[in-house]
Amino acid sequence: MFGAIEAGGTKFVCGVGSGPEDVRLGQIATTTPDGTIAEVIEFFERQGEVESLGIGCFGPIDRISGQITSTPKLPWRNYEIVATIRAALKVPVAFDTDVNAAAVGEARWGSGRGLTDFLYLTVGTGIGGGAIVNGQLLHGAGHPEMGHLRIPRDRTRDPFPGCCPYHGDCLEGLACGPAIEARWGREPESLPPEHPAWALEAHYLALGAANLACAFAPQRIVIGGGIMRQQHLLALLASELRNLLNGYVATPELVPPGLGERSGVLGALAMAKDAATTNR
Ligand code: ZN
Repeated sequence: MFGAIEAGGTKFVCGVGSGPEDVRLGQIATTTPDGTIAEVIEFFERQGEVESLGIGCFGPIDRISGQITSTPKLPWRNYEIVATIRAALKVPVAFDTDVNAAAVGEARWGSGRGLTDFLYLTVGTGIGGGAIVNGQLLHGAGHPEMGHLRIPRDRTRDPFPGCCPYHGDCLEGLACGPAIEARWGREPESLPPEHPAWALEAHYLALGAANLACAFAPQRIVIGGGIMRQQHLLALLASELRNLLNGYVATPELVPPGLGERSGVLGALAMAKDAATTNR
């Protein structure tokens, strides 16, 4: 058995198992580091021994030191999550961002199976992505931050200034869930399919996806997150992306995550299995 944690800003999803069929999941609310991690450790102690553990974590993170770095969640800033969990459970710990873990999960068991090149994107409270290139998860010196791409915009069509605390109107600042809510004064789930919010959302996401398609040449883009639960959005986005790329490069296929809401935690499980093999 292997252990997995998808560490998010509102909850930690923990799992024990060997794959999608047998994984047992539990949820712990994200509060203070000490409180949350104590509950996480209790969860794993109750579930019995694991050989290794993977963590897909909200970021930004430093993969080498195993720390969460410049997060706006102040109590978690510079928190040594890997060292703390490794000391408590005494097993090898693999560590990466939540979106990179989700990309690994989709590669192993989901919509990226059998592909050498694809991207995983999530559109929810924030926007982020992970890239599988030549069959490998792509790491830069830090990690990719696909949500913070700069995209062109028409201020007449959309005067909303954007909500990214670092960049204002980057892709995330214009197209994440809180941006939609702030722009239209309504929760995204309450906006009907014919509302102009969705054409604008598809336009921004397509601009981001077009930049990513040109940079990474993916066969597919697996796109999930809370905002993508709007079923009509994927088709709007696909047609806008095709128009933007205009036949110059192949338009990557846009598909929902094969693992649904479990891409992140299952990806962390896949990372744990790989870490166990490396440490044997
Ligand atoms: Zn930004």
